[in-house]
Amino acid sequence: MPPIARIEPLTTARALRGPFDYLLPPELSDAAVGAVLVVPFAGREVLGVIVERSETTDVPAEKLARPRAVAGPGIPAELVALARWIADEYCSTPARALGLVLPPGAGRATRPRVSSRSALVAELTPSGRLALALAAEGAPLPGEPPNGRSGVPGGPRTSAKPVRLTPKQHTILSTLQTAGPLPAAQTGADHGTLRRLAARGLLLLERREQRRRPVHAAIGQRASAQPPRLTAEQERALDPLIAALNAPDGALAPADRRFLLHGVTGSGKTEVYLQAAAAALEAGRTVIVLVPEIALAPQTVARFEARFGDTVAVLHSQLGQGERYDEWMRLRRGEARIAVGPRSAVFAPLEQVGLVIVDEEHESAYKHEGDPRYDARRVAARRAHDAGAVLLSGSATPRPESVHALRRLRISRRVDGRPLPPVEILDMRDAKHPLHPVTREALGDVRRAGRKAIVLVNRRGWSNFLSCRSCGKVWQCPQCDVALVLHRSQRAVTCHHCGHAERVPSSCPDCGSVTLARHGAGTERIEQELIEAIGDPSFPVFRLDADTTATKGAIAKALGRFDAAPAGVLVGTQIVAKGHDFPDVTLGVVLDADQTLRFPDFRADERTFSLIAQLAGRAGRGQHGEGRVLVQTLAPEERAIVAAAAHDSDGFVEGELQRRELLRYPPFASLIRVVCAAERAADAHAAADAVARLVDAPGAQVLGPAPLFRLRGRERSQLVIKATQRRAAVQAVAAAVDAVARTAVGRRASLSADVDPQ
Ligand code: ADP
Ligand code: ZN
Ligand code: ZN
Repeated sequence: MPPIARIEPLTTARALRGPFDYLLPPELSDAAVGAVLVVPFAGREVLGVIVERSETTDVPAEKLARPRAVAGPGIPAELVALARWIADEYCSTPARALGLVLPPGAGRATRPRVSSRSALVAELTPSGRLALALAAEGAPLPGEPPNGRSGVPGGPRTSAKPVRLTPKQHTILSTLQTAGPLPAAQTGADHGTLRRLAARGLLLLERREQRRRPVHAAIGQRASAQPPRLTAEQERALDPLIAALNAPDGALAPADRRFLLHGVTGSGKTEVYLQAAAAALEAGRTVIVLVPEIALAPQTVARFEARFGDTVAVLHSQLGQGERYDEWMRLRRGEARIAVGPRSAVFAPLEQVGLVIVDEEHESAYKHEGDPRYDARRVAARRAHDAGAVLLSGSATPRPESVHALRRLRISRRVDGRPLPPVEILDMRDAKHPLHPVTREALGDVRRAGRKAIVLVNRRGWSNFLSCRSCGKVWQCPQCDVALVLHRSQRAVTCHHCGHAERVPSSCPDCGSVTLARHGAGTERIEQELIEAIGDPSFPVFRLDADTTATKGAIAKALGRFDAAPAGVLVGTQIVAKGHDFPDVTLGVVLDADQTLRFPDFRADERTFSLIAQLAGRAGRGQHGEGRVLVQTLAPEERAIVAAAAHDSDGFVEGELQRRELLRYPPFASLIRVVCAAERAADAHAAADAVARLVDAPGAQVLGPAPLFRLRGRERSQLVIKATQRRAAVQAVAAAVDAVARTAVGRRASLSADVDPQ
């Protein structure tokens, strides 16, 4: 029987669902699961991935199409399985899910856009080394080898003819001796000279693959290669991890290999990751380390690189495509055995994965917002499960879901033994100014002491919205039903949902009044308020938000500047609260802490709690004594705020789990959201209604359709499905969405399903 391959063509069309049987021509008969091939499909040539091999097919042999060629490196079979699981789990298609696991740059083009880069490299041979040594001693030179290329084991062969080196040749050889192998272009010699030296066997000249090495930001200089002595609590957390890593196959149930490292900020979680990773390598396994966002985790990356050197490959979108390809290939070939990166690094092409680490597991950045809308934390758990690996999630403010499902390892104290900084709640209900008097005074103290402060404002721009003082008109986005935000430095009001921007109005188009009111304060205005309140140019204010960090690498640079400054204030959106380790920060301030509570989302409390707790974690890490944290809020009695002020992570999570069980929210049920968007509100609603009627699964409760605010000119309607039997519900929703999409009403709308929406 001829060799058959079941191939998934990588096409975006939802309706064309594979896999399809192809006949492998003799030159491709060895192609295995995971091979990426150019295949004829629907009259075109597209990339396809082999998802199964078979000896039999129902299709008559003469009707089978044949793949044309191999297109670049293939992917490990386990990633093919993972992608197929993702397609089912997140209401997507196998083609789209396979798109996630392809080598960087493969995309949908039939020819890979990226490949290895090679260059002509010159390397000193043993003969060349000897020639140099003898020239230095002034001894008579031995003869040259009779045939050109040398470098064979056993050292140089000699003959009677003496070697003579011109000064120029001598320089080239000694450059190579000190520098090691160099691209020909960097030797300072022309090709003719190099070729003549190569012909004499003094150097080796050949084409070699060049690794494009990513260069990372310089924060994290404090990283050390030597593991420190663990604290007793770190030790207690590490022990069960090592035991699980070394447990023989089948000795542990999958649930016993899933851990949550719940340790306060500064408790040395990274050190536990590092030592667990070392143990996994020692056991002959590989490691995946996920971080929420590379720009915010340069220190974690630096610590892994300092400890494990070239064994670490870093994968992320800020790398050039060539660099990403090279890092990917190093993992694929087993040259690198630890992959570090944001959520997509969960697809690192490693085999024998023994440990999957998810750092800062509470971060919503782990959720991917394009199709497939996967959650890297869930994918990490699945990948660990399939590989028989240990899953290690870590956070100071873990999700209730994780506390519920994982084996918890606690670290309750900071490494340096310092207490967590005291948190004071400042009631802003009668405040006239965006900065509370206590906040101003505290900033003054920091300035006088020459230390640093971090101020968190959860909104960028100058003010939240503009209104007319005479008629009350509010400036809104013409495309979306949301208010426009004033950005003073850009002289524009902009929409934070679609990017629409217009000039700041000077008068009201409705009533002609020229008195406009600005409401609320964003990062831009707070930056100005801080500069005025501090009134000291030698105490700089750094702003960090999406407006100041639009360019590649800007976040790392901004953080680097703040790190390098002797003193100052960092003001910005949520990004200022994330995992940085600045030892001189003695004050953390959260402005408008209840702002996150006002989102109509069951995770609002969790977000608010974690934001305050994470910011508190930035303060008081150095040798300058205790830090201090101030929380300005209009809702001083809110549970999330009170719990954060008391550093009561356990109490908060417990209360949160009780509430969620009562209301049947995750982890006690799964949520699936379906959004229908259309030109007309009636069509969006009709499509959502049609889906609602079709969803039929045991234990599934359908809420809606409910109108959603207009976005980018599209009216929207949404359903939320609460499901106790996740698999059945996801399948029912996927089937309903597909069925409605094929009807007349469905064609007037675009439908998308989101499992575990954020
Ligand atoms: P977390 O990730 O829990 O917030 P980190 O891993 O950033 O904490 O650790 C805080 C600091 O303590 C880091 O500077 C780290 O190098 C240091 N550290 C961690 N473990 C130890 C240890 N056992 N001994 C000394 N210093 C440690
Ligand atoms: Zn008006
Ligand atoms: Zn808009």
